Amino acid sequence: MCDAGWIMPDQSSSPTRRGMLAGTGSFLLNPGEAGEKLRVVVVGGHPDDPESGCGGTIARFTGSGHRVTIFYLTRGERGIPGKSLDEAAAIRTREAGEACRILGARAVFLGQVDGDTSISRTVYEQFEKLLSAERPDIVFAQWPIDSHRDHRITGLLAHDAWLRTTPKFQLYYYEVESGRQTQQFAPGCYVNIASTIDKKRASIFAHASQGPAGIWALHDQMQRFRGVEAACKVAEGFIPLAQGRTITF
Ligand SMILES: [Zn+2]
Repeated sequence: MCDAGWIMPDQSSSPTRRGMLAGTGSFLLNPGEAGEKLRVVVVGGHPDDPESGCGGTIARFTGSGHRVTIFYLTRGERGIPGKSLDEAAAIRTREAGEACRILGARAVFLGQVDGDTSISRTVYEQFEKLLSAERPDIVFAQWPIDSHRDHRITGLLAHDAWLRTTPKFQLYYYEVESGRQTQQFAPGCYVNIASTIDKKRASIFAHASQGPAGIWALHDQMQRFRGVEAACKVAEGFIPLAQGRTITF
């Protein structure tokens, strides 16, 4: 279960329903209240991963005045057939910038290359340093059981940084194209994204070079199914690292 004290009220549900959710452990994240501003970092392998896996949640956080920074491990250099790595990087960097503008987030590119990412002691240490500089309260990263190498690395980097950081940030894993990419993903908590679904869709369609209609079609199915699990219309699901520091309000 999600050990955070954050329960995102589902505005379309009754208090009884909210109580049921809390009782079953299907907690929903609450972007905060009483003026507390959280620092959130979302880590993704490529431009479009954070938007697909948690675009609705990002928009909920930024819409409540919290600061969200997106760490893109690569610029998606191998993501446009027929383009050179530099050409694709330029196009996809622009697309990521537009997606972040839509979501109200800040983009940071970590400098690895799509399809050629690596992990080493140096990479772990560099990542930890960059992440620590953000002083995050919450980090979202890709679930490391995934068909794509670059995705797996983001999950490992975030977990390693979590192990080494004190005090602990809360670490949540997100899913992208479950079944095709993310595997074996069983969420422990959810965010109702009904109020931000249009922004999420727009942020995915900002990635015009990536066939966004196809990405959206699959995630549309996923978020409806997660909505069934969370007793709301559409949701994003997350796996919390259970030992994370609990932030209560
Ligand atoms: Zn990706």
